[in-house]
Amino acid sequence: MMQAARFAGDRKIEIRQIPLPVPTAGEVLLRVRACSLCGSDLRVFRNGWPVTPGHEILGVVDKPGDRLHGQRCLVYIPVWCGRCDQCQAQRPHLCENATDLMGWQRDGGYAEALAVPRQCLLPVPDDIPDHLATLLLDTIGTAAHGMRLSARLAPSGRVLILGAGPIGLGAMLVALQMGYGPVEVFDPNPMRRGVAAELGGVALESLEGRPAYPLILECSGNETARQNALERVAAMGAVIQLGEAAGWQVNETKAIRRKDFFYVRSFYFPISEYAANIELLRAHRAQYERLVDERAPLAGLNALFEEFANGRRIKPQLSLAA
Ligand SMILES: [Zn+2]
Ligand SMILES: [Zn+2]
Repeated sequence: MMQAARFAGDRKIEIRQIPLPVPTAGEVLLRVRACSLCGSDLRVFRNGWPVTPGHEILGVVDKPGDRLHGQRCLVYIPVWCGRCDQCQAQRPHLCENATDLMGWQRDGGYAEALAVPRQCLLPVPDDIPDHLATLLLDTIGTAAHGMRLSARLAPSGRVLILGAGPIGLGAMLVALQMGYGPVEVFDPNPMRRGVAAELGGVALESLEGRPAYPLILECSGNETARQNALERVAAMGAVIQLGEAAGWQVNETKAIRRKDFFYVRSFYFPISEYAANIELLRAHRAQYERLVDERAPLAGLNALFEEFANGRRIKPQLSLAA
């Protein structure tokens, strides 16, 4: 048996005893050590979810006799096929057959263990501690992938980041590491603005009067922010959408209609970028460390989610003792 969180809806998380998962052929049992909370989990926190959520997972492979037994691994969330055109082109995050995402359609990491398909295991080097390793997924992985796409369209100069949550702050750190600057960050939450300024960004309380930007990263999923991004991008500039939202409506104002610009959506990251992302983490470890601002065991998960939902934490995580 093991403990697993059940998201019942209405911001209620119950910890239950359920049978240990039995991996099928092609899967291994992963004993969870850490699982980071994500803005996209807040929907699940409010509405409930049929499987165990949690998709920024670090664990230890438990399969005696296996080459990876005892190895710490991250979980790459798309269950990719390896055969489709996107997989063949080294873009498994865009796999045409990946109907399941770990922690969304299959049980995820808010539990003591889960079954993980082998192709979703990313081994973690020994010098990266558990609590920082999970940042290599959504925070650094998604942000750095977005920045690499951006670099094709706007290779240098000023950047505006809308939303100083984990993706926005991750993108800010990556942008600074890639030599962009100044990197301006707008967020209505003063705590988040404070962290952005502390880590080298220029925190903005308002966008009024700011000149147009060659590159804007929309990291909030907020409708007003998206409208702002499209209006405030410079002609021939680029908007990269990293944030997620269920509904979205744009008013096509003159500021949007009368210019050429690029609009890019970026989702997750290809496994081929994983090694470079580890180097980004190693190079600015202290700054990334700042993002992980609280850790709690399963019994504290509900309270941790409350703090996160109320905007008082950047990137808290479930932390299970070794
Ligand atoms: Zn996430
Ligand atoms: Zn595929």
